[in-house]
Amino acid sequence: MVDSSAAIFIVTDLIVCGLGPAGRALAHRARAHGISVLAIDPHPDRHWTATYAAWADELPPWIAPRTLAAQLPRPVAWGTRRFEIDRRYVVFDNAALRDSLDLDGVRVVAGTVAEIRRADGGPATVRLESGETYTARRVVDARGVRRAPELAEQTAFGVMVPRQRWDEPLFMDWRPDNGAGPAEPRSFLYAIPLNDDTVLLEETCLAGRPALDLAVLRDRLHTRLRGRGIELDGTEPTERVRFPVEGGRPGDEHFGAAGGLLHPATGYSVATALAEADAVATGASIWPWQARAVHALRNTGLRALLTLSPTEIPLFFDGFFTLSPERQRAYLSDRRNLFAIAATMRDLFTTVPAPVRVKLVTAPARGWRG
Ligand SMILES: Cc1cc2nc3c(=O)[nH]c(=O)nc-3n(C[C@H](O)[C@H](O)[C@H](O)COP(=O)(O)OP(=O)(O)OC[C@H]3O[C@@H](n4cnc5c(N)ncnc54)[C@H](O)[C@@H]3O)c2cc1C
Repeated sequence: MVDSSAAIFIVTDLIVCGLGPAGRALAHRARAHGISVLAIDPHPDRHWTATYAAWADELPPWIAPRTLAAQLPRPVAWGTRRFEIDRRYVVFDNAALRDSLDLDGVRVVAGTVAEIRRADGGPATVRLESGETYTARRVVDARGVRRAPELAEQTAFGVMVPRQRWDEPLFMDWRPDNGAGPAEPRSFLYAIPLNDDTVLLEETCLAGRPALDLAVLRDRLHTRLRGRGIELDGTEPTERVRFPVEGGRPGDEHFGAAGGLLHPATGYSVATALAEADAVATGASIWPWQARAVHALRNTGLRALLTLSPTEIPLFFDGFFTLSPERQRAYLSDRRNLFAIAATMRDLFTTVPAPVRVKLVTAPARGWRG
């Protein structure tokens, strides 16, 4: 239910700004805990068109199986060789996920937040562009991250084809058969079923500042698929991806991508937001010092990754996918276990070839390439 009437002043427990996956999960879980919620988004009924996926073990128990459109028990990754990842990967059915995060009992306002004012220890006020203001005991900003030239982005270009045209789900395929020159920045193929009928084949630039252009990724995808026996005729539905992988603000006043929950080395945040929604809804802090340290380490890891040369990147991922699933999980998904992540980095360091090792050590101090 959307309320666009000119209400001026409302006192409520919690205002959630932004109804993407994170804000919607937060509003939904807050209601489940009996908290009064007002949620604001310019387009509260907008459907989510991006393909959202996650590792199954990241999801909270209250996520219903019907929200999953596809499940991959052992997705495959390629660096210079093939790895089977012993970890279940899931693709969401966005409509089902959105419906399951129902907003029954939430007061939904269609509007654009212009300003959030917080008083020390007191209520916080949200002003909309329309001039309306709303006050609550707590306001959480889940408005995502705006693009900006200084922020590294992930880009991708994908096509959707009938599932029978593609055999093997690929979490990440760095093989060099996409036509890129040896000195050009690398991109990888992501190939996952969206449901029983369709598979998404997507050429992806993991992160760059600037990231690879979508036209470059489209050409690379066509080249790669042609070499693997798949001709595209240009009528296939497409997915175009471009979003910042940094720029969120860790802290309890923000949530989702806006709140620093996006993993800079993968661009993932949806499962983390779902998993942390209960804690944030009930006012617990999800940013103990260990989580802040992990956040900093992850950013350091991304900086290191971006200094690797095109030939070193597949070697780095050979090393990463050689690690045990527990170690991989620690790096990709664990927000608080600083020691497990440090152990993963140590193990990775000893696994990769010496030149990559040197870069991993010296790169963070040198900053971004590109
Ligand atoms: C194509 C694509 C594919 C992706 N795939 C994955 C994936 O597989 N797995 C994964 O974990 N992540 C993925 N991501 C990355 C990331 O997790 C998503 O961007 C995710 O949508 C972030 O959720 P969020 O709710 O934090 O922010 P957003 O989805 O950006 O939602 C922000 C919400 O805030 C609203 N808003 C913005 N400004 C205002 C304002 N001024 N006032 C009120 N409301 C406002 C917007 O309308 C929007 O509804 C993908 C991103 C893209 C673009």
